[in-house]
Amino acid sequence: MSHLQPEDLNNIRNALQTRREALLKQVAAALEESGQTQYAEVLGRASGDSSDEALAVTLGDLSAARLDHEIRQLRELDAALRRMESPDYGLCQDCGAPIPVARLVANPAAVRCVACQALHEKTYAGQEHGSI
Ligand SMILES: [Zn+2]
Repeated sequence: MSHLQPEDLNNIRNALQTRREALLKQVAAALEESGQTQYAEVLGRASGDSSDEALAVTLGDLSAARLDHEIRQLRELDAALRRMESPDYGLCQDCGAPIPVARLVANPAAVRCVACQALHEKTYAGQEHGSI
């Protein structure tokens, strides 16, 4: 069972949504700048609805573009949003320890406790970007 209280989950969800909208705006702005307004439009429409298929397709198309870093963060946030529905959310995926609420608010996509994340980054340095 999760250590997270409903109000903790609310705080984390709010933090996640704020971050997600900022990222979407960032990506949309970059796309408009480069003239890809059709994508920018989809992102603008999708910012309120996390389960938008069009957004997923668009993100797929864009992953080859230079917005890799932002897109990856968006994907992680969407995955975190889905994980929030499960009782496993907030537990370290390596050691099973509860991840502190403050860490989850700061980084809703965190899947590991601080110790395991540090170890993971040391082991896989360069293969995956670290905590946001
Ligand atoms: Zn751990």
